[in-house]
Amino acid sequence: MLKLHNSYSNSIEKIDLNKREVKIYLCGPTVQSSPHLGHGRSAVVFDFLVRYLKYLKYNVIFVRNITDIDDKIIEKSFEEGISYKELAIRVSKEFDYAYQKLNCIKPHKEPRATEFIKEIISYIETLIKNEYAYITKSGVYYDISKFDEYLLLSGRTKNEVISGTRVELEEDKNAPEDFALWKFSKENEPYWESPWGNGRPGWHIECSSMIEAILGRTIDFHCGGNDLIFPHHENEIAQSKGAYPKEQFVKYWLHNGMLNLSGKKMSKSDGNIKLLNEYIDEFSGPVLRFFFLKSQYRSPQEFNVNLLKESESTLNNLIDFTYGVDSELKSKEVLDIFEDSMNEDLNTPKMLGSLFKLINESDTLNEQKLSELKSSIKFVFNLLGFDLIKVDNNQKTDEELTKFFKKYEIKFENVNQAVSEFINKREDLRKQKDFESADKMRESILGIGISLEDGTDSGWSWKNS
Ligand SMILES: [Zn+2]
Repeated sequence: MLKLHNSYSNSIEKIDLNKREVKIYLCGPTVQSSPHLGHGRSAVVFDFLVRYLKYLKYNVIFVRNITDIDDKIIEKSFEEGISYKELAIRVSKEFDYAYQKLNCIKPHKEPRATEFIKEIISYIETLIKNEYAYITKSGVYYDISKFDEYLLLSGRTKNEVISGTRVELEEDKNAPEDFALWKFSKENEPYWESPWGNGRPGWHIECSSMIEAILGRTIDFHCGGNDLIFPHHENEIAQSKGAYPKEQFVKYWLHNGMLNLSGKKMSKSDGNIKLLNEYIDEFSGPVLRFFFLKSQYRSPQEFNVNLLKESESTLNNLIDFTYGVDSELKSKEVLDIFEDSMNEDLNTPKMLGSLFKLINESDTLNEQKLSELKSSIKFVFNLLGFDLIKVDNNQKTDEELTKFFKKYEIKFENVNQAVSEFINKREDLRKQKDFESADKMRESILGIGISLEDGTDSGWSWKNS
């Protein structure tokens, strides 16, 4: 039987769903800047859960949102001199790229907050009507003093919360722990009309409203990084209880652990965040996915490049081991290892340890048993979203090549045509004695696996490395 850690009770619980339809909501990104590794981990570990629930024959309805309006998005778009929309669309595409390369199942819905303004306003109206919210000069706020069950998820005390809350100067709320449901817009900021004045929604109300609009008032699993427990998820609970006091909002709260870079929690202020898509391009999506499989989803996970290299070589061994066999569950032993580990709060490192033990001892097996083991292992990994196909990262798609050459205003038709135009452009630079730019061009084309060799008498030559 499946057991998972429920953050609300802070204990491992038997998952009792009593029905075949399962509703899962995962807090997705605020699309203000490129995805980092932590976004990848959260997407992948809950993708393991979605796939496992499907394997257990649940009809999974999975929603992951996009926060496309937020203070930070507005700030960043001002810095870049573009609209908040342009920024949100550009960054969303980077997330799409990552999700696709990491082979995460596409959610049934991927709602964007700005598409749900009407629902958000009506949710806030309910909170005002139920006397859980009040209006000031700067916006509409949730009145925490009305909600007795606040902080039951995080287990924090009100004093801790108050001392940790940064009150913006312009906020004229009644108490520091109250939070904004609607913020009136300042000059030049994007806004929507509301009964209280032009403005935009607060972050927390977006998720509560989208959950209600798409999945209803009660969902089975609410997932996210454990950095969202406070204040985001506490505030979501406060909102749902304020609006619908008699209904259960979430049955199981699931939170993934953070990544550590050289033992330190990765955070933006440390400046040690590497971009997710840079690692995906360097190592491939499956390698990153395998790296996330190696740690239990709730544990903090150590990250460095050597660990990625290790994942790459282990994954390659696995690909070699299962090469040429069908994907089919034929071994009871593999089935038991898989189910027992996954049922134990998705204990994927335990599963890997046991499966690799079988692989290491497999040279004593007869041909049939060996083939059954290979097929079964392939089945398990396929199920967890690994194709086990060798990926040559140097094989660039036409789309990637088109994108590369476009940077040099070259229309890509085929490799020969594009490279010879590229060489001509570089030749022009050298004629102008701009050797620095010419060298940069040579370095950049190396990134798509093509090395240029400079001038012999016969001119220029290139080879696909
Ligand atoms: Zn959320």
